[in-house]
Amino acid sequence: MVSKQNINVALIGNPNVGKTSVFNQLTGLNQQVGNYPGITVEKKIGFCKLPNNIKANILDLPGTYSLNASSIDENVVIELLLNKNDKLYPDVALVVTDVENLKRNLLLFTQIKDLEIPTILVINMADRMKFKGITLDIPYLEDHLKTKIALISSRKGYGIDELKKLIISYRTISNEPCLSASVIDPDYFNSLRKAFPNQLLYKLWLVITQDVNFLNLERNEIRSSFTKSHSDLKRLQQKETIKRYQFINDVLKEGLKIDASVARDYRSRLDRVLTHKVWGYVIFFLILFVIFQSIFEWSKIPMDFIDSTFASLSTIAAEKLPAGVLTNLISQGIIPGIGGILIFIPQIAFLFMFISILEESGYMSRVVFLMDKIMRKFGLSGKSVVPLISGTACAIPAIMATRNIENWKERLITILVTPFTTCSARLPVYAIIIALVIPDNRIFGFLNMQGMTLMLLYLLGFGMAIFSAYILNKILKIKRKTYFVVEMPNYKLPLFKNVGINVIEKTKAFIYGAGKIILAISIVLWFLASYGPGAKFNNAEKIVIEKNQNKPLPPADFENAVASQKLENSYIGIMGKAIEPAISPLGYDWKIGIAIISSFAAREVFVGTLATIYSVGGSDNEVTIKNKMAAEVNPVTGEKIFNFASGISLLLFYAFALQCASTLAITKKETNSWKWPVGQLIFMSGFAYVVALIAYQILK
Ligand code: GDP
Repeated sequence: MVSKQNINVALIGNPNVGKTSVFNQLTGLNQQVGNYPGITVEKKIGFCKLPNNIKANILDLPGTYSLNASSIDENVVIELLLNKNDKLYPDVALVVTDVENLKRNLLLFTQIKDLEIPTILVINMADRMKFKGITLDIPYLEDHLKTKIALISSRKGYGIDELKKLIISYRTISNEPCLSASVIDPDYFNSLRKAFPNQLLYKLWLVITQDVNFLNLERNEIRSSFTKSHSDLKRLQQKETIKRYQFINDVLKEGLKIDASVARDYRSRLDRVLTHKVWGYVIFFLILFVIFQSIFEWSKIPMDFIDSTFASLSTIAAEKLPAGVLTNLISQGIIPGIGGILIFIPQIAFLFMFISILEESGYMSRVVFLMDKIMRKFGLSGKSVVPLISGTACAIPAIMATRNIENWKERLITILVTPFTTCSARLPVYAIIIALVIPDNRIFGFLNMQGMTLMLLYLLGFGMAIFSAYILNKILKIKRKTYFVVEMPNYKLPLFKNVGINVIEKTKAFIYGAGKIILAISIVLWFLASYGPGAKFNNAEKIVIEKNQNKPLPPADFENAVASQKLENSYIGIMGKAIEPAISPLGYDWKIGIAIISSFAAREVFVGTLATIYSVGGSDNEVTIKNKMAAEVNPVTGEKIFNFASGISLLLFYAFALQCASTLAITKKETNSWKWPVGQLIFMSGFAYVVALIAYQILK
């Protein structure tokens, strides 16, 4: 009998038990991802149609080991389960467990049962039972754990229908605790019960021991009349854990049998190689190498396709729509702006595809374990490896990939330093400047100097990321309990469905999160570059004609000369000139100033802007831009603008400065505050300025 047509279901479980897979099985793509208010823990809700026209809201809670909160993720779980007024408060809880780790997983189950919520025990990974020689006595377990059990395999999809049926009949499921909290310390708990007869005993206990916000409970009142010293509380908590495990052991002794002769142990053999002190690293770097080669190779075609599609869309819009401001806005502002967002999608999608394959297969946990010792010295976590490496493609997905770092301080540091790694948007800038100022010589006959410079710039990026992490670790005063728990899950073939959903979710998050800001900035830049005050801008054509009276220009050159005249006197041109005094000690003129300002939206804009400024003829391939840039001289000193000193200074500037609006946007999103992105901007760009200044002054 169900009176409500909408059932709230909470998915709870230890990390790596397959909770996400169960969630995906139940909800498919009907998912919404957001954040819990005020914190950065991801909140996932999905919808599921059950038989008899009943709908379920499935809330995927963060993975948690127990209800003794040690991270914000765990607080989220406890706060929801204790607050009956929350609109997501579950009608039924599904505690997901892994059949191979049942003993450890059941600890959380027994705690949830004490909260007197109807609870279904979902035993996942049933497909592994035969392989491991495991048999379960389901009726016995249901009886002793006072629950209903769904034995499922979210990988193979079995048991899901039975699970749905159990969800519908949640009212018939017992909500009795399976062991009473008072076994921990009968005297203490009995007096607690007497003082608050209307409250759940276990809830009171959590109020006393946990540091979470509970509504509807006089926390101070309870605490003051039932104080215990910190060490006494700790002792009681330990006793609680022991009692619970005793209970679980007793139940499993009868309910679960393992035939050890069946279990073949390929896992430990594989682990020995993959976490080996030497081979572990070699294999890891080989895998990385292959991944990056593939990301760059495979992204090239779709990226070029997106690029040319949007270029032709711009042209079509400009030709087909009636001439005017609106058309210009659409063809020069909005369409290129959207193109500038979508162009990142191939890299983001491929990167997340690889990351989720590595995670799904169980390999990532080995890497995290391997790297943790090294990273910890710099205030980072083993889990920072993924973001730092991903940063070579693009900082946006990289920062998004920090989400699984439990410790907030380590996560924040990772977010802040990741933009130092050399992302692919820096490549076009590096490429053209290196070609201009570094001679194409070889040392020792085989080391190409230009290639070496590029490699040095990559190393510089990593080095700077690690170094700033070290400094930030020293200065940031954030205290967080650190529990580094790496799970060593079994090796598994990745589930295609999980990988696919992850890629779609991450890409969507990028488009909606950072995309809006990139688009807005592109439009602002378009406006600043397309308008200017005064006659010099408005009468550009006339001025160019007058200048070239003696020798009229061919049409393509004429148009470029006009564009260049307009840009010089547009608002952005005026801004470029305004910042010239600040950047001339770095060896740059106002034209580079414009390029720096406009490439604030995204670094790769630098080359395009210079191309416009130097009004390169119709064939604007890089060689001609390069030749033009090489020929550019300072009208006062007669020196080349792009010389060794200013070139190195520019390279260093782009290596360190946070020239990327999308990074700011994503940092804001992930840290939920403007404080961090603004700090990041000031520090990185300030540092870049100083380094570029010193380099130019020494080298000039
Ligand atoms: P979560 O951390 O609890 O969300 O777990 P995931 O859903 O990410 O799954 C962890 C790992 O277990 C992944 O590698 C999944 O492919 C794998 N997995 C999930 N369900 C099953 C299952 O039913 N059988 C097997 N053999 N593997 C599974």
